[in-house]
Amino acid sequence: MKIIQADVVIIGSGSAGMSAYRAARKHTDKIAIIEGDQFGTTCARVGCMPSKLLISAANANHHAQNTDAFGIHVNGQIEVNGQEVMHRVKSERDRFVGFVIDTIESYNPQHVIKGWAKFIDEHTVEVNQELRIESKAFVIATGSRPRVNEEWKILEDKLQVNDDVFYWDDLPKSIAVMGTGVIGLEIGQALSRLGVRTEIFGRTENIGGISDPVVLKKAHQVFESELNIHFNTIPKVSLENNKVRLEYANTVDYVDLFLAASGRVPNTDHLGLENTGVQLDKKGVPIADPDTMQTSVPHIFIAGDASDQLPLLHVASDQGFTAGNNAAIYPNIEKGLVRSRLSVVFSEPEIAVVGQSYRELDLDNTVIGMVEFENQGRSRVMLVNKGTLRVYFNKKTKIFLGAEIFGPATEHIGHLLAWSHQSGLNIDQMLEMPFYHPVIEEGLRTALRDAKAQWD
Ligand SMILES: Cc1cc2nc3c(=O)[nH]c(=O)nc-3n(C[C@H](O)[C@H](O)[C@H](O)COP(=O)(O)OP(=O)(O)OC[C@H]3O[C@@H](n4cnc5c(N)ncnc54)[C@H](O)[C@@H]3O)c2cc1C
Repeated sequence: MKIIQADVVIIGSGSAGMSAYRAARKHTDKIAIIEGDQFGTTCARVGCMPSKLLISAANANHHAQNTDAFGIHVNGQIEVNGQEVMHRVKSERDRFVGFVIDTIESYNPQHVIKGWAKFIDEHTVEVNQELRIESKAFVIATGSRPRVNEEWKILEDKLQVNDDVFYWDDLPKSIAVMGTGVIGLEIGQALSRLGVRTEIFGRTENIGGISDPVVLKKAHQVFESELNIHFNTIPKVSLENNKVRLEYANTVDYVDLFLAASGRVPNTDHLGLENTGVQLDKKGVPIADPDTMQTSVPHIFIAGDASDQLPLLHVASDQGFTAGNNAAIYPNIEKGLVRSRLSVVFSEPEIAVVGQSYRELDLDNTVIGMVEFENQGRSRVMLVNKGTLRVYFNKKTKIFLGAEIFGPATEHIGHLLAWSHQSGLNIDQMLEMPFYHPVIEEGLRTALRDAKAQWD
């Protein structure tokens, strides 16, 4: 078997792995970046980008169907051409993937290795049982995969995951979506808005990761009025006459496909970690310091979804950079950039969590300000006046702690709040910031004033 030496080995060439490569490359030329599957990253190929393309098509249809309140009546038929929808999703997606592949092709070809890597010991990985690489340091950047329950596997090719959706040539007539978290909600609402009969199931009352009960209640009202959504329900599934048979709550239903979107599993279970001393948590994921991404074996670092810390694209990139840098300068290590938390769900209305979530608050020491969007000026003008925003402040210091948002312009308000959080602003400083008129952000000011009034 061929054996080569390296300073840094990066396992996985997704967003975290590529960022790790960029950081490590500044310090050494003895690098290997190993990819078992296709290049192109989960984000560009089957994640962030194609999901947003599908959502954009869905919202175009939804808005075209809902113009009457403005006095605009669309008399001709609005037709969703599933083949054209999927063609645009895939061709735009392929363009994004192409940019990623261009970047990989710009790497020194000797650094790029195709195959599945596994640890043999703490200083060696084996690739496809053909090649061994001995290295001073490692970055695990192996991402995550959809969780698929064993009992769903009897559905054979009717069982779909997000990766499959973004290779469809046409839309199905009907689908069951298992999961009301971020991915289930985004894809479920999009398919529903594209005219696919969509039954969405959640094993709990969760919607898109909202933990604030007031915000969650509003999200329930809004989504339950638009979508066929069944909470606290896991349907029993089987195959019958080439259809998926669903059985739940005295109901029997038949759909074309079943989408498993009930969470993701970090890819750390086939890495031979048992051949290392890396300390694992209950889920089998290496425990790592979020500031340095160092595991309990000091020369092994981890980044991105594999770390199971916060499975978001910008976090994968930041953690990858930190891990790659530290692997290359090991045994010296540095703290990397850890930004204020910002997560967004691209449902309509959107959902965001900034800084500390409601679940993480010390409620006795927190002041909560709130706005409902129903009567918010600009939101009513635009007929997007649905939602609730709650902002959290430290009662003693008046410092902004975090927010949960469900409503219009959430991706933008989320940014304003995340920047405020990272800057350590307090309620007075936030209210001193400019607010234009008439904008949806004035709703945020109402919530801030509501919080401020509780000290006055
Ligand atoms: C449908 C969907 C929508 C999303 N939307 C958003 C969004 O809007 N915004 C956002 O911030 N995030 C979003 N995300 C999350 C985001 O895509 C991920 O957080 C990010 O892509 C993770 O990057 P990564 O580098 O950790 O993993 P990946 O990009 O998955 O890279 C891991 C790589 O490691 C390879 N690999 C695994 N094991 C091995 C091995 N043993 N040997 C060699 N190679 C290996 C894999 O083949 C893969 O290429 C979404 C995800 C999904 C699924």
